Amino acid sequence: MDLLDDSIVPEHAREIKQDAREFAEEYIEPAAEEYYESGEYPWEILEAGMEAGLVAQDISEEYGGRGLTLEQILAIAEEFYRADAGIALTLQLASFGCEIMQHYGSEEQKEKWLRPVAENEQISGLAVSEPQTGSDMAGMETTAEKTDDGYVLNGEKYWVGNAVEADWITVYAKTGDSDDRYSNYSMFIVPTDTPGYEAEHIPEKMGMRASKQGHIVFDDCEIPEENLIGTEGGGFYMLADFFNHGRIIVGGHGIGLAAAAIEETWDFVHGRTAFGRNVSEFQSVQHILADMRMEFESARAMNWRAASKVANNDDAGFWAAVAKTKSTEMAVDVAERGMQLHGGRSVLNEFKISRVYRDVRIPVIYEGANEIQRNLIYSQGSL
Ligand SMILES: Cc1cc2nc3c(=O)[nH]c(=O)nc-3n(C[C@H](O)[C@H](O)[C@H](O)COP(=O)(O)OP(=O)(O)OC[C@H]3O[C@@H](n4cnc5c(N)ncnc54)[C@H](O)[C@@H]3O)c2cc1C
Repeated sequence: MDLLDDSIVPEHAREIKQDAREFAEEYIEPAAEEYYESGEYPWEILEAGMEAGLVAQDISEEYGGRGLTLEQILAIAEEFYRADAGIALTLQLASFGCEIMQHYGSEEQKEKWLRPVAENEQISGLAVSEPQTGSDMAGMETTAEKTDDGYVLNGEKYWVGNAVEADWITVYAKTGDSDDRYSNYSMFIVPTDTPGYEAEHIPEKMGMRASKQGHIVFDDCEIPEENLIGTEGGGFYMLADFFNHGRIIVGGHGIGLAAAAIEETWDFVHGRTAFGRNVSEFQSVQHILADMRMEFESARAMNWRAASKVANNDDAGFWAAVAKTKSTEMAVDVAERGMQLHGGRSVLNEFKISRVYRDVRIPVIYEGANEIQRNLIYSQGSL
């Protein structure tokens, strides 16, 4: 039985899902352990993904991309994350933040900045989180001060995917100090070779090691006025809108990881003997597998329902938060049970379940920690 079967996937996303599966089997899965061990950036797999038309293709056809829909990106995410979350994150982050420019940028900006990413000549990133906070989006302290010619950025960003590797980054910075704390932020395009932009990798992580995040310091980093995206003061709302899409995809990160955990565990218990019997014959083991499967199927159904809601802008904030929280927590739960059923071998690096177990800790935090999602679910889900 195929855990990631496509009967729940809208028809227009099935072909690319199949392409993503074949790519994951050929390129991601066989390299996963090696990249986990080395912690290196998987440039070769990224390039292969670009060749295959599976990277940065959310950018519209007008600017050189394939204009993949939210559901198509979700279908890719499930398949890639099932193969390996670290490599998958790198592939999915190559155009991170571009959607903001796609929606709010000017024609000139899109032509200049989106096209090279869509044509796989450049990669991007999105810098929101700071060393002191990643949760309080209206409490960030990096400033962008207006000058005669543009803006000067000062401050720090932390956890930024591709901060070192990217050609340019979409940066969220403070441009006002009004009592309405949600209107004080704006979005900027910052090329990573701008004087005053310094980035270094953050320390090694325990999971998703084939993806790279960085610490950026802006020290009088000057950018021209034309690098402001949309209107000054609109950054918070642009980001909220962007995260609605992102959180559906992160739900897919949980689904892919959980699929891997269930498959690994199923195979393990059916190949292992204890007390003269196959471990899968113990009823308590069967019940754990049954629970894993039920939790997986309910989260996946909810995630796809939420994807359709968000794609149609129907209570998007609520559904995005629900999908992200449920799917990522289901993955943590399923991975934990999978570890237990692997016995002592669960902690050996050579067993994929140990990598999945480390990786599932991350999607419950990024794209907004799940505590923040629960705040949104309550506040946006009023009856
Ligand atoms: C692998 C990885 C990749 C990432 N990639 C990026 C990226 O590309 N760009 C980017 O900008 N950021 C990125 N992030 C950062 C991520 O979005 C933040 O880590 C996340 O938003 C949480 O922020 P924090 O780590 O500062 O935790 P904090 O905000 O300090 O929160 C610490 C704890 O307090 C809880 N908490 C905080 N506020 C509340 C509240 N109001 N109610 C209840 N609980 C609360 C949190 O839920 C959490 O449990 C990445 C993070 C990781 C781990």
